Amino acid sequence: MEPKAMRGKLVVGNWKMHGDLRRNDALLADLRAGWAAPTGRAMAVCVPFPYLWQAQAALSGSTIAWGAQNASEQPAGAFTGEVAASMVAEFGCRYVIVGHSERRTLYGESDATVAAKAAAVIAAAMTPVVCIGETLAERDAGATEAVVLRQLDVVLAQAGVNIAELVLAYEPVWAIGTGRTATPEQAQAVHKAIRKRLGTAGKDALLLYGGSVKAGNAKELFAMPDIDGGLIGGAALKADEFLAVAAA
Ligand code: PEP
Repeated sequence: MEPKAMRGKLVVGNWKMHGDLRRNDALLADLRAGWAAPTGRAMAVCVPFPYLWQAQAALSGSTIAWGAQNASEQPAGAFTGEVAASMVAEFGCRYVIVGHSERRTLYGESDATVAAKAAAVIAAAMTPVVCIGETLAERDAGATEAVVLRQLDVVLAQAGVNIAELVLAYEPVWAIGTGRTATPEQAQAVHKAIRKRLGTAGKDALLLYGGSVKAGNAKELFAMPDIDGGLIGGAALKADEFLAVAAA
């Protein structure tokens, strides 16, 4: 096996539509108290929009970054209910998740929309965490690589997107919130294909894995040569579990 690259590790918590002021206070304080930020390891939490100020207040001056789970591809205007990337940036966010499979499936976000959102996040001086991944039907049809690389190619072809300015998260849709994790070998195979597609520019790119990662399986996943950390859903809602994943 090739020696492990020195890209560093990142775990990003995706709170989804969970939380309230009281529980968030406790979770953020416990993370801040428990995260020792070992060299080369980074942690972030992506919270619902109304709690961005709370994450900023609780985590400013700490080694934990925060961010949002979505942003509009539009800069401003008559888009009722939408939130511009520049607005998110005003709360000190470092990351914005774009193209999560729940957004693609439930809200009809196309590859092109996801790519435009990634560009909007970069234009607002933040880092998009771009999610790509196949459904179970696509995997069963042997189309995993084709689907993932198609989603990736659309993002990379987008004006204003540069691989050095984004984080990629491979999230097989069948593994998200299902308790069913890709094996380390399955995840590594896709990560390797992604890194190959990125060419020399991808040597330093951070490629996260997401899909039912928890303390009990993080270590073996994160030990794979092309997996640089994780995008964590359910396990990010409990401080001790998320801290254990980040330490893995
Ligand atoms: C996610 O929401 O991106 C995710 C991976 O969720 P879970 O860890 O709960 O599968």
